[in-house]
Amino acid sequence: MVKITGFTSRDVRFPTSLDKTGSDAMNAAGNYSAAYCILDTDVELRGHGMTFTIGRGNDIVCRAIDYLAARIVGRDLEALVSDWGKTWRYLVSDSQLRWIGPEKGVIHLALGAVVNSLWDLWAKVLQKPVWRVVADMSPEEFVRCIDFRYISDVLTPEEAVDILKRSATSGEGGGKQERIKEAEANRAVPAYTTSAGWLGYDEDKMKALLRKSVDEGYRHFKLKVGGDVERDKRRLEIARDVIGYDKGNVLMLDANQVWSVTEALDYMSHLAVYKPLFIEEPTSPDDILGHAAIRKGLASSGVGVATGEMCQNRVIFKQMFQASAIDVCQVDACRLGGLNEVLAVLLLAAKFGVPVVPHSGGVGLPEYTQHISTINYVAVAGQKNILEFVEHLHEHFRHPARVEGGYFVTPSAPGYSVEMKEESMARFLYPGEEGVSWWTTPSAREILDGEQI
Ligand SMILES: [Mg+2]
Repeated sequence: MVKITGFTSRDVRFPTSLDKTGSDAMNAAGNYSAAYCILDTDVELRGHGMTFTIGRGNDIVCRAIDYLAARIVGRDLEALVSDWGKTWRYLVSDSQLRWIGPEKGVIHLALGAVVNSLWDLWAKVLQKPVWRVVADMSPEEFVRCIDFRYISDVLTPEEAVDILKRSATSGEGGGKQERIKEAEANRAVPAYTTSAGWLGYDEDKMKALLRKSVDEGYRHFKLKVGGDVERDKRRLEIARDVIGYDKGNVLMLDANQVWSVTEALDYMSHLAVYKPLFIEEPTSPDDILGHAAIRKGLASSGVGVATGEMCQNRVIFKQMFQASAIDVCQVDACRLGGLNEVLAVLLLAAKFGVPVVPHSGGVGLPEYTQHISTINYVAVAGQKNILEFVEHLHEHFRHPARVEGGYFVTPSAPGYSVEMKEESMARFLYPGEEGVSWWTTPSAREILDGEQI
């Protein structure tokens, strides 16, 4: 028996805006940040969960974590996870907190951190990585993790059990047990990179980073677009010069919600010639029918539509699938209410036959999503899909995500992999302790006193 005795939230921010890492058409200068939930227990173990933001407002998410995590203090871990779907429902059922969502926005980002901290703790108790905890579940146990409210019109628990049973004895490799072996051999999740593609990078930097990625064995490359059409055409020209059209390399584009539906269709008519596999986030993440219209409009050019990193809950995903609005589902590890809701989306995607390529562009996200993609391959879809690997800030984690030979190294350490080193937390804590935190040094003034964009 492990009892949750308390928690702390922590506001950790990295000054990535200084070198434009993470810059795109909508987010010119983000500081990659983590709103942390750390659960204390009556044993040696602690549960670490975080949610990703890009700076200002990270403190607001931390405040929301404080409200939600307080609801599980004094509770036994075993009781909480033995009926996970019910626990999840309990965590979204404080009516006063629900009012400031419901199941979306800051309160839901905070829920992701809290729920994932429970998964991390539970996996540490079981001494398994989170992906393996889920892979070892029976279909019935898997389905009990999910709250089916709002999705049972499209996917019932019984149907979900059937999908998982079918997957256990079919798909790549022949079945789940074979795919678990493949995961243990680090061949479950092929990686793609966005490292060269940030909008704020100049052309020389982009070219050099693309060449480096090609040399490292990458075959999929994603570039940010949507700032200026002439500049984007030049950048895509350069990218295609480096990766070619006939070398098996795949180009993907990401507009980060910068266009209206008609603008997306017009802008993409200029970029389709560069043969991108898909355009990611062409418009508002809430616009289900807008995505469907863009997908229809681009169909003849062979360009697909991807979205999901800011889809706020399983309901939006349900409708995206119902409306045939997307070719690729880019679920986020913490924008949804933690792994439980992600599992619901994996099942919905499997039902509709849409590949899942989780969003990983942020600190801690590849650490999380390597588990999600492994779960999806091994236990749900049974089909391999690529996963984004962004090369920044992994050095701060105790068990960082790693790519070798073009594949993610399947996590083997117990937990959900987002536990940060103590010294990194202290160094980048915001506003932080004088003399300890980077944010109290003169170098931080450039950000703190600079223009707030
Ligand atoms: Mg994106």
